[in-house]
Amino acid sequence: MTKLSAEVEQRIPELIELRRDFHRHPELGFQEERTSKIIADRLTRLGYTVRTGLGKTGVTGILKGGKPGKTVLLRADIDALPITEENTVPYKSENPGRMHACGHDANTAIALTAAEILAKEAPNLNGNLFFVFQPAEEILSGAEAMLKDGALEGVSADVAFAVHMQNEMPAGTVGLRSGPLMTSADKLEMTVTGKGGHGAFPHLAHDPILAASHVVTALQSLVSRETPPLDMSVLSITTIKAGTAFNIIPNTVEMSGTFRCYDLPLRERLMASLRRVAEQTAGAFKCTAEVRNDWLTPAVVNDPAATKLMRELATEFLDEAGVVEMQQLTGSDDIAYFWQKFPGCYAFVGSAKTDGSPVAQHHNPKFDIEESVMTTGVELLVRAARRTLQPK
Ligand SMILES: [Zn+2]
Ligand SMILES: [Zn+2]
Repeated sequence: MTKLSAEVEQRIPELIELRRDFHRHPELGFQEERTSKIIADRLTRLGYTVRTGLGKTGVTGILKGGKPGKTVLLRADIDALPITEENTVPYKSENPGRMHACGHDANTAIALTAAEILAKEAPNLNGNLFFVFQPAEEILSGAEAMLKDGALEGVSADVAFAVHMQNEMPAGTVGLRSGPLMTSADKLEMTVTGKGGHGAFPHLAHDPILAASHVVTALQSLVSRETPPLDMSVLSITTIKAGTAFNIIPNTVEMSGTFRCYDLPLRERLMASLRRVAEQTAGAFKCTAEVRNDWLTPAVVNDPAATKLMRELATEFLDEAGVVEMQQLTGSDDIAYFWQKFPGCYAFVGSAKTDGSPVAQHHNPKFDIEESVMTTGVELLVRAARRTLQPK
């Protein structure tokens, strides 16, 4: 049984209403105007010193406690996805082609509710609350944009915490893991260039489609032959575009994909290998390959002490069985930029529906969460802040 504190229990209706409001009005990365305004207005009303327009639509709020002390950073992501919702719930998305299909509506409502509870307790806290509402997580761009806009100027944190919904885990659970949790992510683009010609005279052309096909196959050797077997990396070529007609060998093939791993030196080595394999494989077919990569985010690495604290706090109000060891994920989250600066713990809150309906994956048009689990997220953030800023 989950044992909720009174401050959280009494806010359940408002927490659900807030999440449903965000759910009805989803906004894509860097376009979260309405969402940001609600966040900024609420934080301002609660007495936080608020900054807006950080990374276009990011918001931060700082509140000093009664006595000086540490600073705790609490972060939520606020953006939605370009998906048309297929649920028939009363709080269905009202923005066609936009949907909160990853639970950031819940993450945001949780952090705002925690901000309210903690603001009331601030006079008794030793230290400062620092809330970060980050845009554009889904395109792994918001955190870096906030940093570039000086979101951390004049403020530092001693420790950082975040929670995220996780539909692959049952309600009533929290998933924690110390160390590497989510991978770094590179966006890849490749152009293979040959010499176009007639489909019936391939010997006069340099066929970039054949070369690109070999490049795709050869690149998989980076995972199977160049990644140490006890480490991990994942490489997916996800788009191939070429050609205009059945009898024309095109000049070029455009491809894109993603490369992910945990280890920074391994990433650097494999990105160099990726270029070599693409260029030399294309060369074998009298073509050239040009590889461009955009390093979207480093890996998310949870701090051992912050994670140990989260584990302790979770066992205070959840069943022992509710606190589970999280497996490493090949997904990414650009919260990594903040976690590089401050020791942090990113926790997953199990959010599978309890009504027996099939679990919809994150990013699926039928995604929805068990709303009651949001209280777990609020408890975690509030307890983590209280513990960090408790009077000595
Ligand atoms: Zn997502
Ligand atoms: Zn997400």
